[in-house]
Amino acid sequence: MGKYDFDLFTIGAGSGGVRASRMSASYGARVGVAEERYLGGTCVNVGCIPKKLFSYGAHYTHEFEDAAAYGWRMQRASLDWPTVMENKNKEIKRLNEVYWNILKKNNVKIYEDKAVLLDAHTLKIGGQTVTADKILIATGGHPIKPKFQGAEYAISSDEAFYLQEIPKRTLVAGGGYIAVEFASIFKGYGSDVTQLYRGDLFLRGFDDDVRAHLAKEFKKNGIKLCFNADVVSIKKIQDELLVEMSDGRIIKSDTVFFAIGRRPNTKNIGLEAVGVKMKPDGSICVNEYFETSKSNIYALGDIIDRYQLTPVAISEAMILSNNLFNGTNKKMNYDDIATAVFSEPNIATVGLTEAQARKTYSSVKIYRSEFRPLKHTVTGRDQQCLMKLIVDEETDRVAGIHMVGAEAGEIIQGFAVALKAGATKSHFDSTIGIHPTSAEEFVTMN
Ligand code: NDP
Repeated sequence: MGKYDFDLFTIGAGSGGVRASRMSASYGARVGVAEERYLGGTCVNVGCIPKKLFSYGAHYTHEFEDAAAYGWRMQRASLDWPTVMENKNKEIKRLNEVYWNILKKNNVKIYEDKAVLLDAHTLKIGGQTVTADKILIATGGHPIKPKFQGAEYAISSDEAFYLQEIPKRTLVAGGGYIAVEFASIFKGYGSDVTQLYRGDLFLRGFDDDVRAHLAKEFKKNGIKLCFNADVVSIKKIQDELLVEMSDGRIIKSDTVFFAIGRRPNTKNIGLEAVGVKMKPDGSICVNEYFETSKSNIYALGDIIDRYQLTPVAISEAMILSNNLFNGTNKKMNYDDIATAVFSEPNIATVGLTEAQARKTYSSVKIYRSEFRPLKHTVTGRDQQCLMKLIVDEETDRVAGIHMVGAEAGEIIQGFAVALKAGATKSHFDSTIGIHPTSAEEFVTMN
């Protein structure tokens, strides 16, 4: 028995916290973890997983319509929303249990309660006190709530995952991942969707062609886009929400969904008392080894203001647990992280945008292709796929790969390996395409 109850104590059993806890335990550390809400954190409960299930479900609208051109005759499909919720909740429960079992199997002690730091080695969990040599903060984040009169009528993604029914009209505010994904989900499930964004074009930070292409596809799908638009107030009259815009317009809706970013869960866990330094946005400051300003306290995942992505938190957790308990001394490489937005159609991207590449390299070559996928030559659906390669002309290396189209995430994952491995445009050119696929376009671009 060491000086402390645990070698490592983790606050928060989300993607990062669970991975760090179970890996550390597998290296022989005595590990405890506290979770006050649900095992699996945002990703499993109110994030990636249920969102992707909703995306699959919403996509059927197109599939039903497209099936007719392939000879299928069916009666008009109708939606049984309680079944969607029941099956989604069942899957979440299964995953909660998977996480529980993984921790148990690795001898991690689970506390289903809130943990608060009392000092750099002591935590209060419910009525008890435990001590730990090292402490990991992995408490994730939560949706930012807007501030204006009537903001209480707006919902966030947390509530959207538990809606009793699909609203007839939905106003989506925000222009990031969550807003475009949910605009597509609501639309696919039959809601009349209007999306507002405060700037000129949503998805700031993505390649400009990708942003413009998705806007075009959204309009074709019947999503009404209002850019340079801000909500001033919401009034509720009976069951209807009256949303007052900064330009004086009133938009009537049944649901107003806000996705304007997420804030780290760093309040009320004793960080200030212990002297863990934070940034003004509430995220924890860490060095390259995930050490906070208190050298035995670590932090990773959504609370450290780097990337709010599950696979990043998991990688950070593996590096940390290896460094702490398996003798390595590694740093995380944040270069070229591939990412997908599960909008309709999907976006996926890895590497630099055209604008970033033009700033980075003296000369860049752009390969761009827009085409109707083979499937839709028969269905007649007016959907265009966009593919774009960005090449550093001096070295011929592919610096960025971008796609808007069906299964973009599945396709770009493989290309991300090529980009990480330093593939050149000549490598792409000498690769024989898989025919007929959309993905083959990436190796035939001239
Ligand atoms: P994002 O940071 O992606 O986007 C926030 C959006 O809200 C931006 O369009 C931003 O505009 C706008 N915004 C911010 N503040 C205000 C405000 N006060 N009024 C009006 N608009 C505002 O946040 P999300 O909430 O969409 O998602 C959070 C994070 O979760 C993402 O960044 C991503 O890392 C992760 N995520 C990943 C997913 C995936 O991998 N598929 C899916 C969902 C989430 P502006 O651009 O002008 O600042």
